[in-house]
Order: sequence, then structure tokens, then C-alpha cells
Amino acid sequence: MALDNSRVYKVRDVAFDRAAFHITLDDGTIAFTEDVAGHVTGAFFEGEGEVLLSPPNQVERASMALFTGAAILEEKFLTAYFRFNDSTFAELQPSLRPTDEGEQFASQWNQTARNLAEVDALRLLVTFSRDLPTAEPFTAAKNQDQVLHARVFGRKLGAFDIYYDSTAKEQIWAGQLKRVEGEGYYDVWTSFSLNQRLPPIGSSGDNSFGPTAFDAINISDYRIQAEVRPPRQMRVDALLQLEVKAGGQRTLLFELSRYMNIEQIQAETQALEFIHNQAVEGTQLARRGNDLVAVVFPRVLRSGEKLNLHFKYSGEVLSEAGGGLMYVGARGTWYPNRGLGMSNFDLEFRYPAGWMLVATGKRVDSPRLDISAATGLTQGEQVGRWISERPIPLAGFNLGKYSRVVAHAGKVSVETYASSGVERSFPRGSIEATELQPLVPPGLRPLPRTMTVVTPSPSPARNAQTVADTSARAIEFFAERFGPFPYANLALTQMPGEVSQGWPSLIYLSSFSFLTPTERTQLHMSPVVKILSSAVIAHETAHQWWGDLISWSSYRDQWIVEGLSNYSSLMLLQSNSNGTVS
Ligand SMILES: [Zn+2]
Repeated sequence: MALDNSRVYKVRDVAFDRAAFHITLDDGTIAFTEDVAGHVTGAFFEGEGEVLLSPPNQVERASMALFTGAAILEEKFLTAYFRFNDSTFAELQPSLRPTDEGEQFASQWNQTARNLAEVDALRLLVTFSRDLPTAEPFTAAKNQDQVLHARVFGRKLGAFDIYYDSTAKEQIWAGQLKRVEGEGYYDVWTSFSLNQRLPPIGSSGDNSFGPTAFDAINISDYRIQAEVRPPRQMRVDALLQLEVKAGGQRTLLFELSRYMNIEQIQAETQALEFIHNQAVEGTQLARRGNDLVAVVFPRVLRSGEKLNLHFKYSGEVLSEAGGGLMYVGARGTWYPNRGLGMSNFDLEFRYPAGWMLVATGKRVDSPRLDISAATGLTQGEQVGRWISERPIPLAGFNLGKYSRVVAHAGKVSVETYASSGVERSFPRGSIEATELQPLVPPGLRPLPRTMTVVTPSPSPARNAQTVADTSARAIEFFAERFGPFPYANLALTQMPGEVSQGWPSLIYLSSFSFLTPTERTQLHMSPVVKILSSAVIAHETAHQWWGDLISWSSYRDQWIVEGLSNYSSLMLLQSNSNGTVS
């Protein structure tokens, strides 16, 4: 998005407002960008300016103060980049005066403006794709779609962003990209809704996803066929059934791992245009390894219509951790989604001999793929299909060179999938031993010295039955108090790394949670860490109710399901009659 040499002006004492923020350009030079489909969508300013943003309540003011040192954002700036889809250019025009420094100014700031323009490209595509030629003319309610992004370079605070987006749930937000030890983190200073209503159910509320009217589209069903080729490769064919709750858009945004290459997206039989763009650096989305895919439809979507979207893609989203374990999902989401939302999933996986694969949902014995007729199915290659028993917020799978054990909690079968080894990065345990060297005559013996004996590395498979039993006991305890377990079965699968996660009917359980008490001692875990690591199984089991069956209505409430899962696991701990912790 280049600056236009012929649109460079002197500007003085002009102010503009977007709902909760106020920007003043006191004195300086401003250059506007070239047209996009007849619209001026960007500007770069250098000079003296000021921004004022006053968060509406105590919580947001406290957050602002935490990051900036003041409850109200009041900052003088030296440069500012603006991107908008509205009449900002026309609004400023009366205060613009010609200048003869146009060419020099434009060339000086052109690259900066180009780089910054990328951030908002998809958002503006959502707006302007509505005006693309279409077979069926449709006048969408454009007045509902207004966006202004300002990236200013402040005197005290450095570079930061302020957004107004009329289609977002929280229309105003401000924040800053920070680097900590070389990694980018996006600090959200404040984010709020102008109409302080509660956000609708089922929203992810994560502004980093992109400011679209989220609940306008519901993905009711997924039918996915995936071929998994360890150690890295996956090829996926995903059919999504969409319900358009509120129409008017030509472009929809989806999250998908940046490591997936899309071959094709079709609506019914028609191939659609798409753009797979990088997520804003440092945002939650980018940190999860995801990018955004914008899918452009041949016409404006209508309220109430249902349509099928067919994605074909492949890429390297898996990574190998050693010990017969894989990292699944560490490189972003492997299926297109629009954040957390309740959907039905029908998942079919094809995977090589020697591996075990487990997925969310109930395993069924009737693969869609006709194995006997399938060509290219090599000897020992396996096919498995899992269907969700009720709409679930997200779906996943895990695979490894596991062995399997089963426990029961009433009618619920609890399976554990663990490998005989741990990942390469797992710490080695040790015990101290005193070396006596008895074969040397006493007078010649050196002083006994302590030496460290490295113990054999733990085998999660050996302890898998205990893990299954612990989870089954937790299910019985929770079912008595919170209602029946929501699914027919639960699979606990070993995952490399220290983090565990409880997905619907599938728990990714850290290798650490498979350790026996002795193995924990050998790792020199502190008593508190020991208690916490033994409570993990109960905590993740509790997530089957808190987080999977019952979801949060906005990211602001997400902590409640963590709190409830912790509380549940501590209730169980307390109920153990002897009160001992191993
Ligand atoms: Zn948790």
C-alpha cells in the first residue's frame, strides 16, 4: 500500500474522534495512500500529535495503568500511521494545505507505510469485498462496518496501537508488541465494548483473531478425512457445514496453522478465492502458530442460508519428540475454525502401521473409507473414525507408539495410552550414592566421595494402569456431584512436555503425570510440585465438565473453568480418607 506523492499535505490543529478515543494532529505533514477500489484507506503523519483514550470502568483503567503507568492514555506522538475503511480522508480534507515536499516525504515513509498496511489487509478485504462485482446485486448494511487503526509512535510509550472496529464485540482496544528474550508478546492494555452488554454465547472474544462479527456464522458440522504421516506430515480433506446467522459478508476469516498449505477451497462445486495471511505478531493467535485464511465468496451471504465449504490442504504440523511420542497441535490448529464454537465432528484418520491414534469423540467401527476397496492403502495401514456424541468446542487427536490399558467408572471406559519411554527433552533423574572403593587397601583409600547415579529413565507405560484408575475414581467422584460424565469414554494419552490439557473425551497428559512416587523423588520435585502434579489427572478429568461440557461466554470468564477444575481436584484430594499424597 504505497503513499501517493500527489496526496501529501501540511496539517494543523485538526482533531478526530472514534467513540472512546480522540486524536489531535497539532502540526505536521500527512501523506495518504493510493486508492484501493476507489477508496483512500491509509495515511502516514509526522509532526506533533496527541492521543487520548479513557477506559470506561475501573477494571480497564487498572489494566491500562498496569501497562502504561497511568489509568488514562494521554500521549504525545511523533509519527502515526492510520488505516481505515471510512471517511477519514474526507473528514480531514478541509484542514489540509498543499506542500512542495510531497515526493521527498512520500519516499521517506513509503516502506514503513507498506509494512504497517499488511496488518489490516484482511480486515479491509472483509469490507471492500462487498463492493466486488457480483451476479446478484446486494446492498449490505455498510454503515455497520467502520474501522480505524492507529499505530502511533509515542514520546514516552514507544510504538503502540489503538483500534476502533464497529463489528468487533469489544470495539475499542489498545495495546503494544513487546519483546521478551527475543519472543514477541502482544500486550493488550485495554479492550472494551461501547455498549456494555454481555457478549453472546460461544464467542472466542479473542480480538487477535480478527475483528469480524463472529456469531454471524456458525459451523454446525465438520466431516474430516485426514491422512497422518509421522513424523511431520498431514493431508486433510475437511468439509464444513456453515449456518449464516446474519448475512451481508462476502469474505469469511478462518484460523489455520501457518504450516498448512491450502490446495483448494470449494463451496459446493465452485472453487473460491482465498488468502492465507500471517497473524499479527505476538498475538495469541500467532503464538499458537496460527494464521488467518480469508475466503471470498462469489456473492454476498444471506441470513439463514446453509452452505458447505470444502478445504483441501496439507503440511508439516506434527513434530517428533522422541520416545515414540509426537507433538500434535504444537504447530497450530490442523483444521479451519473460527475460534471456539460448539460443533459436531466426524473425524476419520488414516495412519501407518505401528502407531496408535486416539481422537475426540466415540470410536465407531464403520469407516467411511472402504478399506477393502481403497487403493494405495499399504500393508498394516490403519483407519479409525471418531464421532462426537454431542456438539463440542474443539476436536483433536493424539498419536504415538503407545500401549493401552483400561479402567472403568460405571459405564464409562477410561483408557490410558502411554509409551514405554519419555521424550528426549525429559530431565534425567538421579540419586546420590557414596562410593567406597572397597577393593583398595584401607590405608590407600581416598576419602569416600559422593557420586551421582543416573537412574533409568521412567516408563509411563508401566504406570498407565494407576493413571487410568486415578482418572476413573475422579470420574465417579465428580459424576456424583456434577452430573453424569458427558461422554461414553475417556482417553488419557501421553504428551511430551510439562503441560496437560483436557479436551472433550481426550486428555493430553504430560509425561510427568505418569511418574511413580519414586520417579518423582528422583527428579527432586518439591512437596508442593508433587501435590500439584498428582492433582493434574483429577484437574484434567474435571475439565470434561468445566470447559468441555460447560463453556465460557467470553474470554473474560475463561478463568472460571480453571478455578472450578482446581477446586474439583482439591475436593477429591480432601476426600481421600488418609489424606496422604503420593
Ligand atoms: Zn486446566
